[in-house]
Amino acid sequence: MLTDTDFPGGNALIEVLAEDEIEIRPDLRDTIGTWFYWYFRVRDCAGRRLRVRVVGAPTVPIAARGPAVSLDEGRSWRWLGAAAVQDGSFAFDVPQGCPEVRFSVGMPYTAADLERFLGRFEGRGGLERRELTRSEGGRSVQVLRFGRTDGGAQARVLLTCRHHSCEMMASHVLEGAMEHVLGADDQAARWLRERVEIVVVPFVDLDGVEAGDQGKNRAPHDHGRDYGPTEGIYASVRAIRDLLRDPARPPFDAVLDLHCPNITPRPTNERIYFVGSPDAQNWALVEQLSEELERVATGPLPYRSSNNLPFGTAWNVAKNYVSRDERTVPQQSIGWFLDDEAGAGLHTILEFPYAEAEGTEVNATSARAFGADLVRALERYLRTRTASSRGTGPEPTTEG
Ligand SMILES: [Zn+2]
Repeated sequence: MLTDTDFPGGNALIEVLAEDEIEIRPDLRDTIGTWFYWYFRVRDCAGRRLRVRVVGAPTVPIAARGPAVSLDEGRSWRWLGAAAVQDGSFAFDVPQGCPEVRFSVGMPYTAADLERFLGRFEGRGGLERRELTRSEGGRSVQVLRFGRTDGGAQARVLLTCRHHSCEMMASHVLEGAMEHVLGADDQAARWLRERVEIVVVPFVDLDGVEAGDQGKNRAPHDHGRDYGPTEGIYASVRAIRDLLRDPARPPFDAVLDLHCPNITPRPTNERIYFVGSPDAQNWALVEQLSEELERVATGPLPYRSSNNLPFGTAWNVAKNYVSRDERTVPQQSIGWFLDDEAGAGLHTILEFPYAEAEGTEVNATSARAFGADLVRALERYLRTRTASSRGTGPEPTTEG
């Protein structure tokens, strides 16, 4: 039995307790406080029964459907199920002839997954990619553009993901959203492709994604809190600020920043919700998008606008945006930054849970379906907005 984390996204501190028995815990590295991400593999174990104990603080870092397992080097995943876990331990019978098995708290999504996805859509929907910037680790942080990219767009949308590197389920949502715009033959996708410029930064903290960092609450502050009044410490965030302030282009009509919440408490965090910034006018726009999403959603995952988290409620209060270790420096999210930008359109954070949404299973497939729902809602929102800004009613929608 060989255990390790020496592959993209790998994270765990591993202790071998006995033959075929290990204990693992999240490798917190530069995390302030504690977090729950882990991802490791076991090789040379075909036909054996592995016993794994997962430990962490303050609770066992296992999501609502148990650990996720992959038998194809992380390309596809399934949940083992909550019933497979007892007191933080689970057993797994490795199939005969299986060269390796991977386990994780979620369903990891790294740069290789994005490459596989982009390979399917090369040259379609006007898809182009370029380097946004170089990360601190020397990696090429990519920005994707598609839809109406010739300057004639009626509206512009920015989607960002992995400000917190461990929050991988959000990447499956993003992939579903991109897949729908680039490849679907329905009316919403066609409208977006023809009229809307879509800009995507799929891995804001690419170094963290590839290194397998938690990313959340990274010291001295994480990428999601790098939008304060000073210049910012991460190249990717500085480059996103430049995108948001590009003088050659109109402001974005919608900016969605995709995240995953904590895996606890349950079931409070096991739902899909938007998070508001302080600006009440912006929140009214988010509520419009929410109404559209409730109306057009056809995927298996439930979304209800009553689950949204306006500013001033639950954890979404001012003190959450003060640096944990340096209380004199305000640490702002992209939402707070855009509240102060003239002409900024709708902007919000989406929180998308790891394993369950109000009792329904979250996995790569249902997350992608939710991404398509999100795109349909955006189309309705933008269509209504652009129509009202021209002083006419919304264009009729046709089935397609
Ligand atoms: Zn996050």
